Amino acid sequence: MNTEQQISQLREELRRHNYSYYILDAPTISDYEFDMKLKELKALEEKHPEFYDATSPTLRVGGEITKNFETIVHDHRMYSLDNSYSKEDLSDWEKRIKKLVDGDVHYTCELKYDGASISLTYEDGVLLRAVTRGDGIQGDNVTTNVKTIKSVPLRLTGDFPPKFDIRGEIVLPYEGFAKMNQERIEAGEEPYANPRNTASGSLKLQDSSETAKRPLDCLLYSITGDRLGIKTQYENLEKARNWGFKVPKESKLVKSIDEVLEFVAYWDEHRHDLPYETDGVVIKVNDLQQQEELGFTAKAPRWAMAYKFKAEQVSTVLREITYQVGRTGAITPVANLEPVLLAGTTVKRASLHNADQIEKLDIREGDTVFVEKGGEIIPKIIKVDFQKRPQNSEPTQYITECPECNTSLIRKDGEAQHYCPNYNGCTPQIVGRIQHYISRKAMDIEGLGGETVALLVNAGLITNYADLYSLTKEQVLPLERMAEKSADNLISGIEKSKEIPFERVLFALGIRYVGETVAKKLAKHYKSIDAIIGASEEELVNVDEIGIKIAQSVTEFFVSEENKALISRLQHYGIQLEISADKLANQTDTLKGQAFVVSGVFEKVSRNELKKLIEDNGGKVSSSISSKTSYIVAGANMGPSKLEKAQKLEIPIISEDEFLGKIQ
Ligand code: AMP
Ligand code: ZN
Repeated sequence: MNTEQQISQLREELRRHNYSYYILDAPTISDYEFDMKLKELKALEEKHPEFYDATSPTLRVGGEITKNFETIVHDHRMYSLDNSYSKEDLSDWEKRIKKLVDGDVHYTCELKYDGASISLTYEDGVLLRAVTRGDGIQGDNVTTNVKTIKSVPLRLTGDFPPKFDIRGEIVLPYEGFAKMNQERIEAGEEPYANPRNTASGSLKLQDSSETAKRPLDCLLYSITGDRLGIKTQYENLEKARNWGFKVPKESKLVKSIDEVLEFVAYWDEHRHDLPYETDGVVIKVNDLQQQEELGFTAKAPRWAMAYKFKAEQVSTVLREITYQVGRTGAITPVANLEPVLLAGTTVKRASLHNADQIEKLDIREGDTVFVEKGGEIIPKIIKVDFQKRPQNSEPTQYITECPECNTSLIRKDGEAQHYCPNYNGCTPQIVGRIQHYISRKAMDIEGLGGETVALLVNAGLITNYADLYSLTKEQVLPLERMAEKSADNLISGIEKSKEIPFERVLFALGIRYVGETVAKKLAKHYKSIDAIIGASEEELVNVDEIGIKIAQSVTEFFVSEENKALISRLQHYGIQLEISADKLANQTDTLKGQAFVVSGVFEKVSRNELKKLIEDNGGKVSSSISSKTSYIVAGANMGPSKLEKAQKLEIPIISEDEFLGKIQ
């Protein structure tokens, strides 16, 4: 078998596994084996860029950056839907339909997925483009991001037509959403409010490798195009499924409005068993000929109707408002409720967010409140039932002191949250910071868990993360449930963390707003902790993607004498506080301030290596040519449109050798 065959066989195989995993929900291979095969393919592709394929499974990991999303006019307008709320609404709708079309009317009932709508265009079975709904007439080209969503087929199977658009909804299933939020909380960031907004935000991220990390899913519901030979909406769904799209199977073909109502009633109750959020049912006239006769109003098709589920609400009594202190010192008020059943789970607590929220709701202990559950991890209090307010009720006084350490709380201008400023003396902050430091994505200290950290702090053995490095086995042995072996593991785990690279150490420090990605950016730019400490706010803001909020938080962190002392102790213990020498040896500033576009096929290095060389030498890689491009590095078979654009803008085109000469 030659290399080309090997590559195409691997692609085919990975595509099949992808399909089984993401569309059929029936994995045919372990994650590990899948990763190994993907790696193998990636290596081959990098060695042989001449076999590039825009639909290769390796593109799922993303990496392309989009600064501004291009606006694209939809070939077929993306309409909104009319809403109905009752049997009467639906009967009225049917009457209107029957005046306009002849014969029996049948309906497909589908679930109304709550996410971000998307229009995908396929040509010859290959995904050409993905565009957001926008205002319905034109939307944003988000193809690079959508390509990273595993359930969007990059290449179709079966008897698909040569060209068509397909519409659907990009959703973030509950489980993945909860996991993302868990990670955000660990990074000291505010959790996302709901899956829907997070899904649509994900489509507009500039770095597609960030989108790739989000567990998004794409559910399809309608094909449009010319001469497709499809007669009904139900067939539409079946076809799309056969071509490799993810089309949920809950849809049902029915013959009357009564049956529609049965479908609605069933899903109103069972929708919580679905892995993603739905906010109603969409009812569509099944016959496409009839659909055409019915046409559209200015806003929506006459042949379709949404039936919105009532958001589930229950009322219960607010027993008490308590306050939690996070690792950054942020105070979150929590409503402790009389337990009540809501959307299939027992609810005991709800977040009250901040003082403003409490004031806005005018919520008081003893009040009867309405609780609603959307996609949020914890339910939300909608309003107070004022009629049931007890006689002796008193307005809620927001706390002025930390519930854990009694320090007076502060609230910065323009911020909703109160903070406990007792950075070094407030136990939940101390424990939280050390827990963050040892967490998997930070220093990943094996043999030490969150509960043990709390024990160590409470026993007075540590008060900050630097203290971990002076712990001895004899000190930890007396702790609860600590055996000889686990004590050994703990100490050796701590020792091993000295090998963790700088960018993760930077993340582990727990500087507010410095999550994983920001830490990477800062580490790459400054290369050492000393350089970051020396940087002013203005300098920090000039680093790509570092905003004022982050810059302020970073400088604030290093102004503190305590933090400086912590850093020098970490330095003393041998923690990686700069990019290691061999990594650094390959990095220069030679190409600083220069922007490159790479095009074509190269001989001495792969495309990806070339891009890495540019970045390691301080240059920037962009995907499209603009007046800001400094050079185009052209290999064999440079695209003709790029060539033309380069000539028009008079941008110098250099060869692979010329480029390599520059960085020698
Ligand atoms: P609305 O935004 O309330 O006007 O509802 C219209 C939107 O519902 C469409 O733009 C789609 O994004 C979304 N939608 C979700 N599920 C479906 C479905 N099964 N059929 C049609 N539209 C749907
Ligand atoms: Zn405190």
